[in-house]
Amino acid sequence: MIVGVASMRIRYIATAGIFPIALDADHLIQFLNLEAIPRMGHSILFGFISIPLMMFFAGKKDYLLGAVSFSAVLAHVSFDILLGGTTSFPFFIPIINKMITFQGYDWVVLLLAAIAIVGITRIITKNHITEHKSQET
Ligand SMILES: [Zn+2]
Repeated sequence: MIVGVASMRIRYIATAGIFPIALDADHLIQFLNLEAIPRMGHSILFGFISIPLMMFFAGKKDYLLGAVSFSAVLAHVSFDILLGGTTSFPFFIPIINKMITFQGYDWVVLLLAAIAIVGITRIITKNHITEHKSQET
């Protein structure tokens, strides 16, 4: 069981580590000069899309994994702002159909939001597991 928990964590770390890098694949689309909406990967919508996608690839309803992948999008945007300074993303697409400009310490807000989402989901899923255990006994 301890090994199981450990391997789960490694997968979460891997997801949180590799997925944000994969997001920059949409920068390549820009280079190809396609008519795609620029930086689609840098949006809340993409974060939401990534949740069922990640669960599909994991082969189960892993809400924590979903939270990690959603937060990975926020964390990625956060680091893009941190490294690039003032940066624009279609962040609220399709609700607000224009580029949102982030600057200064906006990355701190996004990073804290990412951490909060994972933290809250972890607490919720933990309670959920305990509920199931108490029902079994
Ligand atoms: Zn990026």
